[in-house]
Amino acid sequence: MNPIDQCPVPHSPLDALVIAPHPDDAELGMGGTIAKLISQGWNIGVLDLTNGEPTPHGTLEIRERETRIATTALGLKWRWNLGMRNRYLEATLENRQSLAEVFRVTRPRWLFAPYWEDAHPDHIAATAMIESARFWSKLSKTEMTGQPFHPTRIFYYYCIHLKLVPQPAFIMDITDQWDAKLASVAAYESQFVTGKDSISPSFLERLKSESEFWGKAIGVRHGEPFASREPIGLSVMNNLI
Ligand SMILES: [Zn+2]
Repeated sequence: MNPIDQCPVPHSPLDALVIAPHPDDAELGMGGTIAKLISQGWNIGVLDLTNGEPTPHGTLEIRERETRIATTALGLKWRWNLGMRNRYLEATLENRQSLAEVFRVTRPRWLFAPYWEDAHPDHIAATAMIESARFWSKLSKTEMTGQPFHPTRIFYYYCIHLKLVPQPAFIMDITDQWDAKLASVAAYESQFVTGKDSISPSFLERLKSESEFWGKAIGVRHGEPFASREPIGLSVMNNLI
């Protein structure tokens, strides 16, 4: 069966779709921004490409439960898992088509993808797959499900496994959403808490420091950085902080 047949159709086209190689990447990279945009009335979706298993302390059941808790913490109404294979993610033509079909069905105005430079092969493959699927999504005269559609913007969130210092295109103020972000990440106990009790500072403490670092860069308490390959056009200046 074509996986797209199972894809839930949102009640209205998505304002933005966040694509994550694994459940927890969207929360780590931009959980605060997701919660913020939802609070402002945006219709946001998260698409996980794989189930993220196996991991040392996880099982399929545990990961599904953790994902449900995180989804609730962020207030997400649309989330789906495309069922690709964890650790073996590749930007194949077949995977490109599956993802392009999700875009044609959910019709997100904007896309958020993992940052293009990473140590994790799944993340690099995901970014390449998202960019090529974005292009394929607009094609006519194909056998793909849905009508041609082109997401107008693509931004990149940082959930990277390299010790590099991002040079973001913009930073979102997530001060009021920090608690929701922390709750969404802490939901993945099997990934960030279990078996890591003796590590100091803890993963969640480091996440907070990172969030405060980006907040300090724009004069607020908490922030999340984003990259863009293309210049960002502005029509007004008065919302910049
Ligand atoms: Zn990941």
